[in-house]
Amino acid sequence: MPQDNQELLRQLPKVDELFLSRELTSVFADVPEKVGKDIVRSSIDEVRHRILEGSAQAVDLADIIADIRVKVMLSKRSSLRHVINASGIIIHTNLGRSPLADAALHAVLEVAGGYSTLEYDSDRRVRGSRHAHVETLICQLTGAEAAIAVNNNAAAVMLVLSEFACEKEVIVSRGELVEIGGSFRVPDIMALSRARMIEVGTTNKTHLYDYERAISPETALLLKVHPSNFKMIGFTESVSLSELKELSTKCGVPLYEDQGSGVLFDLACFKDCAEPTVASSLKLGCDLVSFSGDKLLGGPQAGIVAGSKQYIDRLKKHPLARALRLDKMTLAALEATLRICLDEQRALNEIPTLRMLTTPKKDLLQTAERLKDLLEKSVSTNDARFAIVDEISRAGGGSMPLCDIETYAVSIDFRQGSAEKLNAYLVSQRDTPIVTRTHDERILMDVRTILNDDELVEISNAITAFFMQR
Ligand SMILES: *Cc1c(COP(=O)(O)O)cnc(C)c1O
Repeated sequence: MPQDNQELLRQLPKVDELFLSRELTSVFADVPEKVGKDIVRSSIDEVRHRILEGSAQAVDLADIIADIRVKVMLSKRSSLRHVINASGIIIHTNLGRSPLADAALHAVLEVAGGYSTLEYDSDRRVRGSRHAHVETLICQLTGAEAAIAVNNNAAAVMLVLSEFACEKEVIVSRGELVEIGGSFRVPDIMALSRARMIEVGTTNKTHLYDYERAISPETALLLKVHPSNFKMIGFTESVSLSELKELSTKCGVPLYEDQGSGVLFDLACFKDCAEPTVASSLKLGCDLVSFSGDKLLGGPQAGIVAGSKQYIDRLKKHPLARALRLDKMTLAALEATLRICLDEQRALNEIPTLRMLTTPKKDLLQTAERLKDLLEKSVSTNDARFAIVDEISRAGGGSMPLCDIETYAVSIDFRQGSAEKLNAYLVSQRDTPIVTRTHDERILMDVRTILNDDELVEISNAITAFFMQR
């Protein structure tokens, strides 16, 4: 090793001494000792590594301290934290799908910090069932006889298949074997539930006779899967629920629909894009319908199965129901969300997902103008130009994929910096990432998914700070 490298290595500070040094006292004030020392060690190790590589000319204590400061700051940052969504994708799976309504948040707070009636029947003073908190509400809202809620809709599908079709046959159309949300695949859940999948029809066309021919003494379930994020156009044909119901009755095999989105209201404003309601599928004769809690319902992550009491009772007794059960916080949020849904108008106002989906474009203009004004007041026209543009928001989460939801966005055209650089700043260099859309070197901020005025001001401040640092 060259002489001067040895000399540099000797100059490296000692971990314990640097940890206790005056410059770092305030930095480490509320950091556990072990965490603090690990950070000091890793910063020193990095310099040592550079010396050995030959890429360090000197040991600069100020640099090491600056590096430690940044690492301490990052170590305090929660991994799971708030994000501002200006992407215009309402049910954004990567950003946590549906923000909860205020009443749902209050309900979570109320049960989370103390004891609760989770499995306690306070009327009869005996052990109660955790299913009871949401079952009646789901029945009122969907017309079902009974219901059960589990961890998510993937879990609901698995529970149904495991109970009714383990080592038996399930008939499903080839046109419905889709992958949803990156990792939910019907054939995989089938395999996991040890159900034998009998595929019928072709990708684009499945007829009733395809199902009829596949019926055997081994058939345990007819499955219909809502294709969610996938839409076929052209020569397509699928079998309606009412036709399947006739077949199911004739053969004495239950009919189950995995609906995915789980909308409770007829969202007539979406015309052809509107998804069938849970109530309509049950009315058409489905014995069981399952759907997500955090898609069009706008509640917490959950999977709900609604349908005939005789079948739901079987699901409740399955060992998987225990493994997939909901915790008290989710149940509290789900119960509160369902309660709001008893009044449709209240639901459209108070459940953020439903409110964002149904706010008319014209009601968003004022928000867009406010954002543009804030930005124009603080960012020089030499740095960027802002404009209000017509754009399209998306429902996301595999719901209503073809639905163009008209919206306003504020666009940024760059004179200094670039869309790429601003994006890196907004997402990676802030405690609260701000997610936008990029299109042709322009940043677009869709105001539909910005939740309140605080978020609006924060976006403006962040963009101002980006141009100031340049
Ligand atoms: C979204 C979806 C699922 C998965 O639901 P999760 O709640 O995300 O587990 C399953 N089936 C369909 C049809 C879906 O749209």
